[in-house]
Amino acid sequence: MKYPVMEHYYTIQGEGAYSGHAAYFIRLAGCDVGCTWCDVKDSWSAEGFPQVDIQEMIIWVKEAGANRVVITGGEPAMYDLSPLCEAFFEHQIFTHIETSAAHEIKGRFDWICISPKKFKAPILNEMSKANELKIVVFNKSDFDWAEKWAHTCDANCQLFLQPEWDKRDKMLPLIIEYVKANPHWRISLQTHKYIDIP
Ligand code: SF4
Repeated sequence: MKYPVMEHYYTIQGEGAYSGHAAYFIRLAGCDVGCTWCDVKDSWSAEGFPQVDIQEMIIWVKEAGANRVVITGGEPAMYDLSPLCEAFFEHQIFTHIETSAAHEIKGRFDWICISPKKFKAPILNEMSKANELKIVVFNKSDFDWAEKWAHTCDANCQLFLQPEWDKRDKMLPLIIEYVKANPHWRISLQTHKYIDIP
C-alpha cells in the first residue's frame, strides 16, 4: 500500500492538545476542501508527489527516534489509512490524524483532531470520532461555526480556537475574550511558527 507524500519531518507539534510534543509529521498530498486561506496549497494536487510504501514510512519514524506520528495534509481522510494505522500500531507508534472530516476517517487512530472547514463541511457522523476539535478563526462568524460543530462532538472532546495566522493580530484579542466568557474552549496557537520550526 502506498500513499502520496508531499513532505515529512520530525519536529515539535505546535498546535492543539499535543502542542509541545515531539512528533513525526507525514503530509499526504491531495485535498478537495479548498480553503481560501490555506497555507499549503501545493498539497491540493497529489500529482507529482512520490507514492511512498508504508514500510518506508515506518523506517523514517523509527530512524528519527520518534514515538508519535501525525498524519496531515492536504486532506488525509481522502485515503483509506487503515493499513498505515495498523503498521504504526504494530510498531507501538502513537498515531494522530489532522483532518477536516470532509471524508470518512478510515483507520484506527490514537488521536483524531477534526478541524471543520466552511469550504467543504464535515460529515456529521464523523464528528463523534473527534478527540480534539480545532476551529481556525478567520473572522467573527467563526465563533458561531465553532459552537455549531462543538455540539456535534462527544462530551470529552477537547475544544480549541486557533487564530488564522495572517489574521492573528485581529482575531486573537477576540478569541481571548471569547474563551474567558466560554471557558470550555481553549486557545491553540501555531507555536511552531512563533519559534520558526516546521
Ligand atoms: Fe488547505 Fe487543509 Fe483547507 Fe485542504 S483542508 S484547503 S489542506 S487548510
